[in-house]
Amino acid sequence: MRVAASRSYNSIANSKSTMKYISTRGHPAKQTFSQVLLSGLAEDGGLMLPETLPKITDPELTAWRALPYHALAHAVLSKFVATDDIDSATLAALTKATYTKAVYGSEEITPLRSIDAYAQGMQIQALSNGPTLAFKDMAMQLLGRLFEYELGRQNKSLNILGATSGDTGSAAEYAMRGRKGVNVFMLSPAGRMSAFQRAQMYSLQDANIHNIAVEGVFDDCQDIVKAVSNDLAFKRTHNIGTVNSINWGRISAQIVYYVRGYLAATASNSQKVSFAVPSGNFGNILAGHIAREMGVPIDTLVLATNENNVLAEFFNTGVYRPRPSKETFETSSPSMDISKASNFERFVFHLFNGDAERIAAMWREVDQGRSFDVSETPEFKAMRERFGIVAGTSTHADRLATIREVYEKTGSLIDTHTADAVKVARSLVKPGIPMIALETALPVKFAETVQQAVGFEPPLTPEQQIMMTLPLRVVQIAPSVERVKAIVAAA
Ligand SMILES: *Cc1c(COP(=O)(O)O)cnc(C)c1O
Repeated sequence: MRVAASRSYNSIANSKSTMKYISTRGHPAKQTFSQVLLSGLAEDGGLMLPETLPKITDPELTAWRALPYHALAHAVLSKFVATDDIDSATLAALTKATYTKAVYGSEEITPLRSIDAYAQGMQIQALSNGPTLAFKDMAMQLLGRLFEYELGRQNKSLNILGATSGDTGSAAEYAMRGRKGVNVFMLSPAGRMSAFQRAQMYSLQDANIHNIAVEGVFDDCQDIVKAVSNDLAFKRTHNIGTVNSINWGRISAQIVYYVRGYLAATASNSQKVSFAVPSGNFGNILAGHIAREMGVPIDTLVLATNENNVLAEFFNTGVYRPRPSKETFETSSPSMDISKASNFERFVFHLFNGDAERIAAMWREVDQGRSFDVSETPEFKAMRERFGIVAGTSTHADRLATIREVYEKTGSLIDTHTADAVKVARSLVKPGIPMIALETALPVKFAETVQQAVGFEPPLTPEQQIMMTLPLRVVQIAPSVERVKAIVAAA
């Protein structure tokens, strides 16, 4: 008989889950976690979401206070993975192998630090101590292991094709390097990334990682990826997949650090916290929204944008107005330079209580490059109260001033994206409610702007100094769909 001889982490996570996923646009086919993990969009062009959001009970939250990060990740993810889909022991092994001190630099994995001297009650949650120094590692490292496991189980292989202007591409490459059954083909704009970003990506020597520098801008890279993906015959023959920000596996792994941040900042479940989130594609803050809906006592979710403020505009006016790429500014927080937030549809699905027909109609407009206006709906009017999201915008001048002031008052150096969140959140801190700003990258990745702010570049570690001198493995090409197809076909 299996008795609770030692009450292990597993026993906490072991409540049975039958989780199924549905499309935001109403397609009737339901999918499992492992199906949504490997597929991109739903068949009707929508995004997949849990049919019902699992809840976190008060006793669970209390029990979770004692867990190491990997066990918390197991407990949270178990709610999103049907027990007969990926078994609990496998999930436990994958999370345990992923969230280690060796990879993230501390036992806490996402430690908090106070910046009280800058703003009373404000803290920073470090999410950027993984291999590529940006928060995308938090989810992508797990995704690498989940992909390898799932592809092995299905006896399949996958060619991941993506376009990057920096953080996503390197996080994907470091997550997938050396993994069985996976090749990565990552397009980047030649000469347009920082020296640090180039060295980080192009110095990888793994046979399954293919860096392709395209003589053009990020949009040219993106267009090639779309053209290849739209060639359905090619896509099928060569098992083309993606790991972009709509990947549900990434969202679910991101929910974990909100739970962790909450638990680390509080001593009892009667307390609340707020989070401030540097936002672009709405992936990070969507995970926070889901954590809040699941029952994590989150007061406010502060959504910070840079000059590309399509999301702040929506939350403040009810008008969602995606912009064409010529209206998208190049800013000093480049990972938030987006004109259309790919995960936003998932939030709007919740806002309108799962009315898929309505979402499908709204996104018929968006997909034509048009806007929608929900300012007069009761759902929008109740939104702030119901979901706790407050949005604001930060500019280049704000970033410089914030990085400087935080450094001068607290000795802590933050990057440009984190600075956007800190700036927007500063005036929203409530007494007695910790405001946790998510650190989405380390300053060394954006050294030029940090230098402008504080007068010196963040020092490189000895390992980073070595990385900057390593031989590079990259092919440079003119923008050509055929050329990229040939490279994929030849690998
Ligand atoms: C990707 C990224 C963001 C934006 O996150 P979303 O999930 O797209 O909202 C913010 N900061 C950094 C450093 C990033 O790499």
